[in-house]
Amino acid sequence: MRGGTVAVVGGSIAGCAFASAAVRAGAGEVVVLERTGGRLADRGVGLCVHDDRAAELVAAGALPPGIPAHRLERRRWVVRDASAGAGGRLIWEQPFPFHSYHWGLLWRGLREAVPGAVDYRQGVAVAGVEGAGDGVDVRFADGDTARFDLVVGADGYRSVVREAVSPGAAPDYAGYVCWRGNFDAGLLDGLEGAPSHPGSVTTVCFPGGSCVIYRIPGPAGPRVNWVLYAAPPAGGGLRFDDPTSFPPGALGEELSGHLRALLEREFPEYWGRALALTAPADTFVQPIYDLVTEPAATGRLLLAGDAASVVRPHNTSGAAKALQDATAFGAAWGRAGSWEELVAGYWAARGGAGRDLVALARRLGRAQVERTPQWAEMSAADVARWWEEQLAGAPGIGGQAMSS
Ligand SMILES: Cc1cc2nc3c(=O)[nH]c(=O)nc-3n(C[C@H](O)[C@H](O)[C@H](O)COP(=O)(O)OP(=O)(O)OC[C@H]3O[C@@H](n4cnc5c(N)ncnc54)[C@H](O)[C@@H]3O)c2cc1C
Repeated sequence: MRGGTVAVVGGSIAGCAFASAAVRAGAGEVVVLERTGGRLADRGVGLCVHDDRAAELVAAGALPPGIPAHRLERRRWVVRDASAGAGGRLIWEQPFPFHSYHWGLLWRGLREAVPGAVDYRQGVAVAGVEGAGDGVDVRFADGDTARFDLVVGADGYRSVVREAVSPGAAPDYAGYVCWRGNFDAGLLDGLEGAPSHPGSVTTVCFPGGSCVIYRIPGPAGPRVNWVLYAAPPAGGGLRFDDPTSFPPGALGEELSGHLRALLEREFPEYWGRALALTAPADTFVQPIYDLVTEPAATGRLLLAGDAASVVRPHNTSGAAKALQDATAFGAAWGRAGSWEELVAGYWAARGGAGRDLVALARRLGRAQVERTPQWAEMSAADVARWWEEQLAGAPGIGGQAMSS
């Protein structure tokens, strides 16, 4: 099947990858409709991709080579224990074959790989879409409409395209949030205590939460990225229906005071001091959600990346899954004789992955935040067993192999 018009709503990780895949598959005209008018590359947070997933994605052409990435090797689980030193006590260590990325640099690499034939429009908000006969009508926020042969909803966890695919489906709040931040890795040089190996991921474990800390590349040198999961302060009227409710530098005293208290009370001294190096302008809060959309594709409409399934971040699989979705889309296009066959083939290939990843990440979130064990009293063998229970037969975190 060649030719036709494709609109991709959202120009982030999934959106760039789908636009590239559509051109490679033979689309006649591809338009990306991205709401953000400013610089997307400024969304500077860290994420990790499993080495096996990255290798598959590079081979499939979905992950352009040469994007700056930092090699990670080991994950160290530590608890606060003054008698063990400022860095805390190591309770378990496991291999961690991932590379970390700076979101903005990853996006830039994907954006630069989008073929010049794609019409990538910024500052264009889509208000809704409607499948109608032999096309899909896209309604813009300014009231205009346009018709396409196929629409891809790559518009993230609060997708507007989702309503047309699976009416009423909405992410569920997991009952906890994450504080996220990053700072110049050079600042650690001035910190006395427990220097961490640059290839180590440290997970600080405490009652009611955990915090993952690792290095990422940055536009101006390496940075330390951290994600601290815990319940938000009780009361106070905080609302969690919008992940940008607490953007960088705008946490307010309730959320920043709670973060300070967690660092002082629960963290090994070194890690508490390290995270306190984060500037308020580089600290923000995101509520944690999950959602499986069933189905995530119908007629001439399909959902991609976070629009299709919202996986709690403990699984470190979101970016890899979005790129795998695009790879499966390209393969389904190659087999299809019509738009409807393409959409059905895509859903047949990707539906199961969303379900499995959400289920695994829920188990990880329950074990590492909602119902934390008595970490400080566990042996390394206990922690290893506890980890296997969370996996429940899954081979590991970081997403699934493309072939499974
Ligand atoms: C705390 C945390 C840690 C994470 N860590 C990892 C990790 O280690 N590894 C990993 O792989 N993943 C991680 N993820 C997940 C990862 O960031 C996402 O899964 C990935 O970015 C999905 O990209 P996406 O393109 O589907 O959605 P998004 O990046 O959300 O992009 C959606 C795009 O659509 C645009 N848009 C939205 N609505 C409209 C509209 N109406 N009209 C036009 N445009 C619109 C938005 O502006 C945005 O650019 C993490 C997520 C969180 C929250």
